[in-house]
Amino acid sequence: MPIDFDPEDGDTHQDIRAGVRKLCAQFPGEYWRPLDREAAYPAEFVKAVTAAGYLAALIPEEYGGSGLPLSAAAAIMEEIQRGGCNGAACHAQMYIMGALLRHGNDDQKRKYLPAIARGELRLQAFGVTEPTSGTDTSSIKTFAKRDNAGYIVNGQKIWTSRAEHSDLMLLLARTTPKHQVAKRTDGLSVFILDMRQARENGLTIRPIRTMMNHSTTEVFFDNVPIPAENLIGEEGSGFRYVLSGMNAERILIAAECIGDAKWFIEKATDYAKDRMVFDRPIGKNQGIQFPIARAYAQMRAAELMVQKAAALFDNDMSCGAEANMAKLLAAEASWAAGEACIQTHGGFGFAAEYDIERKFRETRLYQVAPISTNLILSFLAEHVLGLPRSY
Ligand SMILES: Cc1cc2nc3c(=O)[nH]c(=O)nc-3n(C[C@H](O)[C@H](O)[C@H](O)COP(=O)(O)OP(=O)(O)OC[C@H]3O[C@@H](n4cnc5c(N)ncnc54)[C@H](O)[C@@H]3O)c2cc1C
Repeated sequence: MPIDFDPEDGDTHQDIRAGVRKLCAQFPGEYWRPLDREAAYPAEFVKAVTAAGYLAALIPEEYGGSGLPLSAAAAIMEEIQRGGCNGAACHAQMYIMGALLRHGNDDQKRKYLPAIARGELRLQAFGVTEPTSGTDTSSIKTFAKRDNAGYIVNGQKIWTSRAEHSDLMLLLARTTPKHQVAKRTDGLSVFILDMRQARENGLTIRPIRTMMNHSTTEVFFDNVPIPAENLIGEEGSGFRYVLSGMNAERILIAAECIGDAKWFIEKATDYAKDRMVFDRPIGKNQGIQFPIARAYAQMRAAELMVQKAAALFDNDMSCGAEANMAKLLAAEASWAAGEACIQTHGGFGFAAEYDIERKFRETRLYQVAPISTNLILSFLAEHVLGLPRSY
């Protein structure tokens, strides 16, 4: 019997959830396993999610999207994960386009958003992280130098996920050297990079093999031209624009972790009821029950924080602390649920055909990316508790 994760709790997105569930049922474990083995992109799944309009949930109706609140987008991502699918193949489009929406000019919005909503253009790549700077974004070295027609970019990004499967990249680059700016976060700018043109003009993409199927890459820029009209907002203010999208990113990833946790909890519970050892279901043993029950409690607490953060975001209220806490708590809850699920399954937890080890590998990422747990704790310590900055 499936667990009723949705008792009457005022969730207004039940229709969306039901639609996503129906779609995900067409992409069972048999679909994901060979892709995982071959590190291949789930093109059919992304096509179906796009065609159903889910990736355009946050694009306003005037630009061809559905203009839904972030809480609806969170429900979509949660259900994708809960259905055993992997939203990492396409989730970035939802939060990346926020920078364009909030800080792009009318021409840029008209040029890109309707085509993204129709699924004709993919904005799936977000180029921030670099090998030498890591989490210290203000130290990135990729430089966009002004020339007559626009900018010329040189440098390198790492962990630029989905770059091979995206038409556009939201790129953060320095436009003024760090030593020439008053604040270390000044002098950074955001661009919409058309990768179809850039690949003919000095852009090289190299895939990185990772422990889960994530289509991540490193990207090299060798005198890549970007037209001036592709600068988002004001030159030098890019860090602020990227930062403003990060709360949405954290909330959506947290929702995915809630979906993963529910998937693990359901699998573990079902198996614990059925699996007979010593002539009794293993679920009769408290040693099996308690880790699942604890993970359930952790998941529900994290879920409340995700809902709180999304509600604040949707009401244009400050939500930095809640978005960060939601991501931290949900990533830990999904990991606890994954651990309980694998332990409940004993040896079978390691068999690929059960999909548990795949989901276990996939959900581990979210304690590191898009922001690692330590950096969230530092944020809370400094900005919420008023403790001294530790770095
Ligand atoms: C599969 C994958 C996909 C990704 N996709 C993207 C993407 O699409 N676009 C993109 O731009 N980036 C992407 N990233 C990058 C991701 O956001 C970073 O890996 C993450 O922010 C951590 O940065 P780092 O790897 O450079 O770790 P580092 O900054 O080198 O940190 C290493 C460790 O040290 C800890 N640490 C560092 N400084 C401190 C401190 N002051 N206090 C306490 N602890 C500290 C960190 O918490 C971490 O545990 C992806 C990463 C992965 C692995």
